[in-house]
Amino acid sequence: MMNEVDLVERGGEQWDAARAAWNLAIDQQPAMVARPGNAAEVAAVVAYARENDLRVAVQAEGHSAGALAGVGEDTVLLKTGRMTGAEINAEERRARVQAAAKWQDVSALASPQGLAALSGSSAEVGVVGYTLGGGHGWLARKYGLACNSVIAADVVTADGQLVRADRENNPDLFWALRGGGGSFGVVTALEFALHAAPELYAGMLVWPWERTADVLHAWNEWTSGLPNEMSTWARVMQVPPLPDIPEPVRGRQLVVVEAAYLGAGEMGAELLRPLRELGPELDTFAAVPPAALGHLHMDPEQPVPFAMEGQLLNDLSPAAIDTIVDAAGPGSGSPLLSLELRLLGGALTEAPPDAGALATVDQAFLTLGVGMLMNPEMDATINTHLDLLSNALEPWDAGVKYANFVDVPIDTRMCYPPETFERLQEVKARYDADDLFRANHPIPCPAAAG
Ligand SMILES: Cc1cc2nc3c(=O)[nH]c(=O)nc-3n(C[C@H](O)[C@H](O)[C@H](O)COP(=O)(O)OP(=O)(O)OC[C@H]3O[C@@H](n4cnc5c(N)ncnc54)[C@H](O)[C@@H]3O)c2cc1C
Repeated sequence: MMNEVDLVERGGEQWDAARAAWNLAIDQQPAMVARPGNAAEVAAVVAYARENDLRVAVQAEGHSAGALAGVGEDTVLLKTGRMTGAEINAEERRARVQAAAKWQDVSALASPQGLAALSGSSAEVGVVGYTLGGGHGWLARKYGLACNSVIAADVVTADGQLVRADRENNPDLFWALRGGGGSFGVVTALEFALHAAPELYAGMLVWPWERTADVLHAWNEWTSGLPNEMSTWARVMQVPPLPDIPEPVRGRQLVVVEAAYLGAGEMGAELLRPLRELGPELDTFAAVPPAALGHLHMDPEQPVPFAMEGQLLNDLSPAAIDTIVDAAGPGSGSPLLSLELRLLGGALTEAPPDAGALATVDQAFLTLGVGMLMNPEMDATINTHLDLLSNALEPWDAGVKYANFVDVPIDTRMCYPPETFERLQEVKARYDADDLFRANHPIPCPAAAG
């Protein structure tokens, strides 16, 4: 079977294209790149790696390649990119996708039916990688993390077997996959619930960045007491002057409030009134289909070189807002493309019955700083500024991490309560005792954890 798998060896003509990650700043030099087209071929790659003392790093396109920090000669890079199938059952509100489906593959089918998946800011991101890490998106305050809407997964485990993980079959594996990351096997297919979104009112309000302080203070006050149907993210942006960026924001420094309201436009507009009274220069709010949420945040739709860092904050006091303005607003000298603040709360804080490993996110806000590494000199500047920002926000930092918003190697213990981490290690020992799988945020076997 292995001889039927599309393999790219080091040094060949296709090498650079095959090993490239979506994050173009990351240089991956694995032993080889394997591009299986189905679950049987995935199993063959896993068996081959095991027999040849190689490890396996699984990637759809490599949005999170920074956390792997470059795979090397001891690792087969298993790229799932040929397995992109997606289908939905609108009546049962379910979707089933293959390993490399992106959110846009799901929303293209679900959105016309008034159904939404719990996707995040970008239609481009892989469903499986995003969901294994938890999955925080526009509808999270209402419907929770994407991982807790998962119904089942098909998984090739370290022994090369294709197994099903759901409430009845391999329930421990099913639990671990839901927020515990990619340490346990290769997910070849994922099934998850879709959610009703018959009416959505979403868009952004934009001001010149000289207004950063008053807009962020007003936004922060506005967020207290919002219904779970209203989600909102605020951001300070320095938009590059690239031709594919829409004209009103291209090359500008801005403060932006984005929001999505799950309900009628009149009610959404009523809730937004205090922010509109601040006189934005651009207001894009409109009734939109669910698929529009994948583009609202204006994420790049092509691979880019970037660095990012996120923080979970217990609260956002006026002093915290002042700190953010000083570090990322006018006069800060910030080189960041974007610093965003996501309002959490609502369903994120309530563990659903029989939740997965990431049952809740209990903090009040999630930040994300992003910089574009357009040349090698930018690396140090951006990373120094991301550190400066995270140090400045230390007084509000919850001391825990949301894995999907960390794209450098960290101690994965920071992403889970101690008892959850221990249970994840037990599942790792049961399904992958030899640590074959190398995930972006690895769960080590108990003996190796130290
Ligand atoms: C532009 C952009 C926007 C984002 N927006 C959000 C957001 O709104 N909310 C949010 O929560 N996150 C967001 N993220 C983070 C994103 O969810 C993570 O980077 C996620 O890991 C990406 O998954 P991927 O499959 O696309 O990336 P990859 O780098 O290909 O995969 C990431 C990891 O997932 C695991 N994995 C992937 N596929 C499989 C598989 N088939 N079987 C087993 N393991 C697998 C592996 O461990 C791999 O290292 C964003 C990232 C980017 C770059």
